[in-house]
Amino acid sequence: MDLDTLVSLCLNRGFIYPSSEIYGGIAGFWDYGPLGVEMRNNVKAAWWQTMVRERDDVVGLDSSIIANPETWVASGHVANFHDPMVDCRACKKRFRADQVDPADRCSASDNGEHDLTEPRQFNLMLRTQVGPAEESSAQVYLRAETCQSIFLDFKRVMTSARQKPPFGIAQIGKAFRNEITPRFFVFRSREFEQMEMEYFVHPDAGMDRFEAWRETRWRWLLDVGLDEARLRWHEHGADELAHYARAAYDVEFEFPFGWHELEGVHHRGDHDLRSHTEHSGKDLSYTDQETKERYTPHVVETSIGVDRCMLALLTSAYDTEEVKGEKRTVLRLSPRIAPYLAAVLPLSKKLSEPTGKLAAALRRRFSVDYDVSGAIGRRYRRQDEIGTPFCVTYDFDSEDDGKVTVRERDSMEQERIAIDAVEGYLSERVLA
Ligand code: ATP
Repeated sequence: MDLDTLVSLCLNRGFIYPSSEIYGGIAGFWDYGPLGVEMRNNVKAAWWQTMVRERDDVVGLDSSIIANPETWVASGHVANFHDPMVDCRACKKRFRADQVDPADRCSASDNGEHDLTEPRQFNLMLRTQVGPAEESSAQVYLRAETCQSIFLDFKRVMTSARQKPPFGIAQIGKAFRNEITPRFFVFRSREFEQMEMEYFVHPDAGMDRFEAWRETRWRWLLDVGLDEARLRWHEHGADELAHYARAAYDVEFEFPFGWHELEGVHHRGDHDLRSHTEHSGKDLSYTDQETKERYTPHVVETSIGVDRCMLALLTSAYDTEEVKGEKRTVLRLSPRIAPYLAAVLPLSKKLSEPTGKLAAALRRRFSVDYDVSGAIGRRYRRQDEIGTPFCVTYDFDSEDDGKVTVRERDSMEQERIAIDAVEGYLSERVLA
């Protein structure tokens, strides 16, 4: 499957659209439509469930997008968060110097070759002003990653949540980067969302925890339905490893445009808390009450983008097959992730009233679509294409036997079950 096929499915079915499309869009910004937002919420809920709710050593945070700008001086983003940029003197197109695609042709030169400038450093932080009058207002940054506030709030969270190392703080939220070349659909955007967890540990325990988090994250990626054959670890070599990092691995996914980073699991040593201690003058070390040992905790970070995760899930789920001489497109999304868990369908419009009642009852617990229009086979196909795992059909016999037909998306098998058993049937499967 190529990227264009996925993009047009996302566009036509209401997963993802270009932002401000009627004005021609804006590169690197996307809107998630009715199905996209349901799926996105499911991805975030699945992450939060595993990373926060199922653990007693990780707590959550929702920090502001704009922080005191000193944050970004201390983190090194103001000085170092640069990409090398080159411009074509002929067509004025701009590229990241390390990502110029040899197949990209210049529209303004005779031979199609770009006439590139020397690389210049380009800071990726997006800036804005805060304050009532433009002249006196402060320049601030839209956060380039969600984790910095986790470090700033480390002590407050630890004390108020009655935690002590080893423990973690997790956050889901928007991040912004003025990417030079946003591309590959939502893979590289200028506004995106991250799911990050920083785990604070005694320096001696850092490596063990790092390995444990690698395992946890790998299992989660499989649990939400990513195709294992399209996943691999990439260990940062000496040339990629940040000077402070003890070890770093990325999970790479085979997207329709090749293998690229999906998630990072990094052992960051004591770099973050130490930098903010030095820069703010506020001590972010920890003293163990039992041993009286004082130390700056080491940090193991797991960081994945919601948008890249969505793209990886859609890539893994997309399938086509021939059924009775007709092409069937099906998104094999897991019940936890699919935008709708079920579609409730009256076989005929005449059955709308009782079917509508069943849909309303199920909607109190699940994400449910209700569709009356078109032949039943066409309605099944429509649900297959958006990944709905179960179709519940109410027919003329339902009035008498109190049963409905449940059709499973992947096998297309149908079984008849009692109307009052549907809720239990669905909840068993969404938790599986
Ligand atoms: P890349 O090398 O692809 O630019 P990165 O190494 O800069 O990524 P990190 O800073 O480690 O990325 O960010 C953590 C995660 O946030 C990434 O693994 C990715 O899932 C997501 N992410 C980073 N930049 C973007 C972006 N521009 N658009 C969408 N998601 C992103």
